[in-house]
Amino acid sequence: ESVIPAQKSSFRVVLLGDQGVGKSSISLRFLRDEFHEHNAPTIGAAYLTQTLKVGDRTVKLDLWDTAGQERFASLAPMYYRTAQGAIVVYDICCKSTFIRAKDWVKELKAQAPPGTIILLCGNKLDLATENREVMIEDALQMAKDKGLIFMEVSAKSGQGIKSTFQTIAEKVVARE
Ligand code: GDP
Repeated sequence: ESVIPAQKSSFRVVLLGDQGVGKSSISLRFLRDEFHEHNAPTIGAAYLTQTLKVGDRTVKLDLWDTAGQERFASLAPMYYRTAQGAIVVYDICCKSTFIRAKDWVKELKAQAPPGTIILLCGNKLDLATENREVMIEDALQMAKDKGLIFMEVSAKSGQGIKSTFQTIAEKVVARE
């Protein structure tokens, strides 16, 4: 009689980053394949869920969006202390949001459980040709220094969104 080890079937991932970088838009693109130009409507709860295929497994990804709560920095630890993954978002066209992303990574490294998968995510790639302020080399260097996964995405075009979530799910599953 073989014993099949219990596998965790759901993972918690938290979205962090400055207001306006596109956290809600990234969630909305991933969950509903929609984009709204002016303001991403609040999807409601800070907690959203989506299933993903990882190899032959179906895993549930519980996504915690801190949108609107950036001001309440003290709330953030509540989200990431129990997360297996964190997506730190910045706006490629706004350098100050990249500097803030560095702070988030520092905070995660100090406070999140060891081994939490951190993905650095530069959003608004569709605007980069004209308005890029954060060079890809700088982000790659930061990712290398801090041991992060790095992706550039556009919630508007959808570029990189699916693979961002797929990548983080695969890394989290691989850690088990
Ligand atoms: P949040 O505060 O981090 O949740 O940011 P939002 O999702 O509310 O996005 C802020 C603004 O940026 C909204 O006007 C979005 O339409 C816009 N936005 C978000 N993602 C993108 C993107 O990939 N490209 C472009 N051009 N605009 C975006």
